[in-house]
Formats: sequence, C-alpha cells, structure tokens
Amino acid sequence: MVTPLKALMAGYGLFSLLASMSVGAVEVNKIAIALHGGAGTITRDAMTAAQDLAYREILSAAVERGHAQLRQGADGVDVIVDVIQMLEQSPLFNAGIGAVMTWEGKHELDAAIMSGRDLNAGAVAGVTTVASPIAAARAVMEHSPHVMLSGAGAEAFAEAQGLAPVDNGVFTTDRRERALERHKAMQSAGLMPPKDHKFGTVGVVVLDASGTIAAGTSTGGMTGKRWGRIGDSPIIGAGTYANNASCAVSATGHGEFFIRFQVASDICARMLYQKIPLTLAASTIIHDELPSAGAEGGVVAVDTEGNITMPFNTEGMYRASIDATGRKTVAIYGIDD
Ligand code: ASP
Repeated sequence: MVTPLKALMAGYGLFSLLASMSVGAVEVNKIAIALHGGAGTITRDAMTAAQDLAYREILSAAVERGHAQLRQGADGVDVIVDVIQMLEQSPLFNAGIGAVMTWEGKHELDAAIMSGRDLNAGAVAGVTTVASPIAAARAVMEHSPHVMLSGAGAEAFAEAQGLAPVDNGVFTTDRRERALERHKAMQSAGLMPPKDHKFGTVGVVVLDASGTIAAGTSTGGMTGKRWGRIGDSPIIGAGTYANNASCAVSATGHGEFFIRFQVASDICARMLYQKIPLTLAASTIIHDELPSAGAEGGVVAVDTEGNITMPFNTEGMYRASIDATGRKTVAIYGIDD
C-alpha cells in the first residue's frame, strides 16, 4: 500500500533524482582553460631534450591543475591566480622567480587580472618586493577602488593586504643574470641587443562552470629594461582582457607593440562588432596586423562557449589547453608540434 509518507518519499526520490541530474548538469557545464609561458625564438634545435621535457611537464601539470579546479566548480579568478602562482614560482618562466633583469640588475614585475562577468580588473606595475604579482593584482581588483597601482605605492598596498614583502633577490636566477650581461655587452659594443625573444611571460584564460571567462598575466617584462618601463601585460586591453560578451585574452610578446595595437581588447572587439569567431579575430591580429609592424608574440584566448585559440607569429610559444570537450594539448614549437 502506498501511504502518504511513501508517496512523499517516492516524490522526494524523484525530486532528488532530478536534483542530482541537475547537479550532473552543473558538472557538464562547459569549462575550458588555456595558458602560455611566453612566445619567441623557441626552436627544437635550441632546446635540449631535458629542457623540452621540463617545460612540457610544468605546462601539463599547470593546465591539469586548473582544469581539475574548474571541474569542481571553482571560480575562474581563483583558478587563474592559483595556476599563475604555480608558474611564478617556476624559474623556467619570466614571472616571479626567474623574472628577467632590468638594466640595473633588479626585477620589476607587472601583472593583471580581469573578470569577464563584471569587467572588474586589477593590475600592478613595476613592483619589486611582491612575491606574487598576480595575487597583488587580484587584491587591487577586489580591495581597492582602483584598477592599476604601480611601484612603491603598489608594494605598500600589497603589504597592507597581507602579502608579505620579499627581497628582490629572490627572483634572481643565473640564466637571467647571463642574459643581462649579454644584453649589456652587445649594447656597449654598439650592436643591437640580442633578440632575446624567449620572452617567458605567463598567462592563463579560463571559462568557469558559471559561464564566466577571465584572464590573467604575470611578467618580469623585458631584459635590460630601463626608466621604469612598463609593458603590455598589466595594461587592461593590451596584454590582458576579459569580457563575457566576447572573449578573454592573455598576450605575450613585444609589449610596446601590444600596447599600441591594444591586442587583447581588439581581438574581443572584432568578435563583438564583426560577429566573427574567436579564432579568426585572434589570428587576424597575430598573423596579419602585428607582423606588418614587425611585432612578435602570441595570445591564448577563450570565449564563453569554451572555444580556445592560441595563435603566435614567433617560432614557438610555450602553451597548454584543455577545451570544452576535454581535449588537452601541450605544445612548444610551431605547426610541426
Ligand atoms: N609582453 C611582455 C612585455 O613586453 C614580455 C613578454 O611577453 O614576455 O613586458
């Protein structure tokens, strides 16, 4: 006999079944992640097998780590900060530890983060004592009325936000010291500084399970930079941009050009106004517009459907992605990859 209680239970059973299906539906919400570790003169010939493997391992681990968090329903901004921090701590990349050196033999770090949900954004530029510039950028976004803070002010703000200062020397590696020596030697010999285009900036874009896209970028800039030079990475619209109406982009390359061409926001604007797919918008800028100005670099980008594109006009770009279908790529060189 079906008692009212049983009927209620049966109803509840049906309800919980439906609920779990909708929980299931949350799980199958589209998610996607793409990241870069810099673009430049990165060729198979110039890399040892051990170097190649080391890059592939960390790119793979980083993209898996971010994807696992997105699968759990993590917020895109949290994922970006977490994955970029992993890359900032690796000496392989030009961000945090392993950052390139200024003319004076110091490190001045830039970072930015942006959420496509509300166009909220934060950035720091030219910071010297902040262990994780991307964490400081996030603090600017969430705990200040501003978008971009620079230099000593940004450092004081970061410390007030609980980000303990570190000595600038913690970012130094032999490799970057040698790169600065080479740069200076060539400059003082009246030669063009080495085309040190293994830029190594790091950036992450994600589509999270709530349907929001976001982007973040962290860098030490360019070897031998002077006079407080700031690149594109912390400039919203140039090296970093996200808007749920179009796309999320993190760039790497010769920052001066990326600023002039407003690369990140231009890709998104083309999508929006020309109603063209992300891949076409990004490749038009990277393969048509930038080369005509002699500008080298690349981007990683995602849209709210989870489409990913990672074009670059250099020999290589350290990159990895997991798209909305779960397809994973880890790559370094050009099309022969
Ligand atoms: N875009 C960065 C800058 O110009 C450099 C890089 O991507 O490696 O500061």
